[in-house]
Amino acid sequence: MNMSEPTQFNAEGLRGEMLRDEPMAQHVSWRAGGVAQRMYRPADLADLQQFLRRTPAEEPLLAVGLGSNLLVRDGGFRGTVVQMVGALAELRMDGELIYAQAGVPGAKLARFAASNNLCGAEFFVGIPGTLGGMLAMNAGCYGSETWQKVVRVQVLTRGGELLERTPQEYEIGYRHVRRISDLGFGICGEAPQTDFAKSEILNPKSSEEFFVGAWLKLETGDVEKARQDIKALMEKRSASQPLQLPNAGSVFRNPEGGHAAKLIEGCGLKGKRIGGAEVSQKHANFIVNAGGATAADIENLIEEVRTTVLQQTGVELHPEVRIVGEKTI
Ligand SMILES: Cc1cc2nc3c(=O)[nH]c(=O)nc-3n(C[C@H](O)[C@H](O)[C@H](O)COP(=O)(O)OP(=O)(O)OC[C@H]3O[C@@H](n4cnc5c(N)ncnc54)[C@H](O)[C@@H]3O)c2cc1C
Repeated sequence: MNMSEPTQFNAEGLRGEMLRDEPMAQHVSWRAGGVAQRMYRPADLADLQQFLRRTPAEEPLLAVGLGSNLLVRDGGFRGTVVQMVGALAELRMDGELIYAQAGVPGAKLARFAASNNLCGAEFFVGIPGTLGGMLAMNAGCYGSETWQKVVRVQVLTRGGELLERTPQEYEIGYRHVRRISDLGFGICGEAPQTDFAKSEILNPKSSEEFFVGAWLKLETGDVEKARQDIKALMEKRSASQPLQLPNAGSVFRNPEGGHAAKLIEGCGLKGKRIGGAEVSQKHANFIVNAGGATAADIENLIEEVRTTVLQQTGVELHPEVRIVGEKTI
């Protein structure tokens, strides 16, 4: 492997690949943004464990799945992005449970469940992320959420320790997951956020633990219906979402009892544009890269939508998408 830089990593015995100045636009669904100083592509779970054992504690690390809910600012991510797709791909039955590793895409998981006569995983097909990303976000749709199916998760700590945890060890909510540690603030998959309310850019915080796998419990049921539901869900998505242009799904969480898309549309923001970023005409809670958008265009448009909705309706919208990295000066 090419690991001549950075020198602080002890690459001996590692089987993965270390890339330098990797354009994150190639790894996020918005197809925009800056570079990751380093990207590590582990060979498998054991290799990732070795990598973490050798990585200095001060190195900022960021797990990335399919980048379908992520934006890296134009100034890039100063640290190492760890790519889960490809490396953590195991998917099998473990007794009555499904064991899937964090790099398994949602659609593959949904189809695997159906082919094993299991129901309840259909919704995963509509979420274009990995299991790791879905665990970090508690992704969901049409009334189902990822953690409703989880019996146990498997995590790797920063120090490379492989642990199993139960859902009871996490505070789980709508697009929110946080580990309840002994200190009361443990973080798992909770990435740094822009504090839009204060227009303050918070420092990138490292991922403290990585989700590397999970055991899921599903129901036996009418699998033919599950297959039809998967097909119907795909059709519904392509009818209602601007899937032909790069996007990151819903930008804002729905406010309590309301719909972000309705509020944004009500404020006349459909079609609003900053640079190459545009509020979708098809779905107002989507921002699309209509061509050549920078991360700054997207982030500025998110802020513009947030302030306009706040001024016109008094409702404060909170971004669902994760924004990391440095602004350009
Ligand atoms: C067209 C479209 C439709 C969408 N529809 C939905 C929907 O219906 N419902 C929904 O909930 N979401 C939806 N999304 C958003 C997105 O797909 C989900 O949030 C998904 O869970 C992100 O998974 P990912 O693997 O792409 O994560 P990424 O975008 O790569 O990462 C997201 C966050 O998770 C963290 N993370 C990733 N992997 C790990 C890991 N292994 N361990 C710890 N942290 C990790 C990252 O550090 C980052 O903070 C949609 C997105 C698109 C583009």
